[in-house]
Amino acid sequence: MSQKYSHFINGTWSEPASGEYFASTNPANLEHLYDVARGGERDVHKAVTAAREAFRSNAWANMSQTKRGKLLRKLGDLITENAEELARSESLDNGKLLREMRGQLASLPDYLYYYAGLADKIQGSQIPTNDLAILNYTQREPLGVVAAITPWNSPLTLTTSKLAPALAAGNTVVIKPSEYTSRTILRFAELASEAGFPDGVVNVVTGYGHEAGNALTEHRDIAKISFTGSTTTGAMIAQKASARFIGTTLELGGKSPNIIFDDANVSNAAMGVIAGIFAAAGQTCIAGSRVFAHRSIYDELLERVSERAQSIKMGDPMDDATELGPLAFDKQLEKVQHYVKLGVSEGATIYSGGDDADVDLPGYFYSPTVLTDVNNDMSVVREEIFGPVAAVMPFDTEDEVVGLANDTEYGLAAGVWTQNLARAHRMSRRLEAGTIWVNTYRAMSPMSPRQGFKNSGVGIEHGLESINEYTKLKSVWINTSEAEVGDPFVMRG
Ligand code: NAD
Repeated sequence: MSQKYSHFINGTWSEPASGEYFASTNPANLEHLYDVARGGERDVHKAVTAAREAFRSNAWANMSQTKRGKLLRKLGDLITENAEELARSESLDNGKLLREMRGQLASLPDYLYYYAGLADKIQGSQIPTNDLAILNYTQREPLGVVAAITPWNSPLTLTTSKLAPALAAGNTVVIKPSEYTSRTILRFAELASEAGFPDGVVNVVTGYGHEAGNALTEHRDIAKISFTGSTTTGAMIAQKASARFIGTTLELGGKSPNIIFDDANVSNAAMGVIAGIFAAAGQTCIAGSRVFAHRSIYDELLERVSERAQSIKMGDPMDDATELGPLAFDKQLEKVQHYVKLGVSEGATIYSGGDDADVDLPGYFYSPTVLTDVNNDMSVVREEIFGPVAAVMPFDTEDEVVGLANDTEYGLAAGVWTQNLARAHRMSRRLEAGTIWVNTYRAMSPMSPRQGFKNSGVGIEHGLESINEYTKLKSVWINTSEAEVGDPFVMRG
């Protein structure tokens, strides 16, 4: 009998109103893992109602900031205690390497500790006005019920990036995890309960995007939508949110450039290219999928990258020796296959890789692929593939590569490889992306803010600033004068 998971609402398990469940499958061997509730409008309504009541309850609304911080810290400790189970569970669900998920789980508590420390530092300021009798101050207040809609590629990390600041600021949340990776998010909610968060503060409704996700974005009692996922879904969500004047934080897709200058350490740069596009089988929003190499080192770089790519060990993500696991589900594989074929039909050359994965497992494997003879007009360079496919292009001058790199609808991240300090700073200023890595790639910390430029998103995650995404600013005016009120027909100030 496979395990069956219901929604987690108001501190307890809640069967789906429809009575329906659907299967979650291991993408490496196609084995059935568990069944999970197929949420719909009624489940969402139940969860949002619980979250709204919890938001107003004495247990949460009157809890001191310090106590909220303590709960987040306790949750971080519980994550550490359960890290191995959670890492295994995520790896089984999305096919990412177990050691990658172990790494993510090892740093996950830091996200909770960071915002635990911020919970009692959310403050306003005193504002001078021209009327000395007026005391004007601001205070930051929680928004209410926050909807967190998250993807499958790094489920706990990307959900915690939203929950930690939202909870630190005093909101309550309803999470709709990806239909492909529900289990660890449900476990997370259970651990939040165990840590002492009052019932209804953290709720999870599982299910499909067009059902549970859609119902959540349309629920009238949601005060904010924090979404990580594709640009297409993000645009739909933004439209619905704007029609109701509620805020959004949107972390969306990318097509990030990784730029290698002639003065770079080419060996390190090649490792940076590999990390950027083949780690996690390219299934990261920050994938360095467009590689620009200076013409004088283009051949050397290409050779190093493709040689290492061909030696990448593909296989079972649970095996410590594996370097590249499967894609997360069938449609992901089909999408990658489609794009590589499209690229070839548009004139690209498969320099190495292509769909020739030699793995003794029936899962959704695709070999690390390097495409050459590509340019900015081709779909494989313009569109997010979300797989292990690098498009490598030569360039001659700095101005040229800035133009090529910025010629994209996306603006999530960019890598620059150079030993020239002035150039490093210059490029960091000129590139249109929310995160710039110089001589490194795919680095992330709860302390460092990140946001997508252009179609890669709206709003900030991580760092001090992300607290503001989950609070509203109130301005309070107190008249300290006891003098007679003068002319009521003119504005005061
Ligand atoms: P997706 O947009 O298909 O789904 C994301 C979430 O939205 C899922 O929970 C899904 O069920 C839900 N959803 C889908 N349709 C919906 C609808 N109509 N209404 C409400 N919710 C809906 O994205 P995905 O395939 O899960 O994730 C991959 C994408 O996420 C890539 O584009 C990647 O670049 C992006 N991503 C971005 C970041 C970032 O920080 N910028 C991080 C990771 C992934």
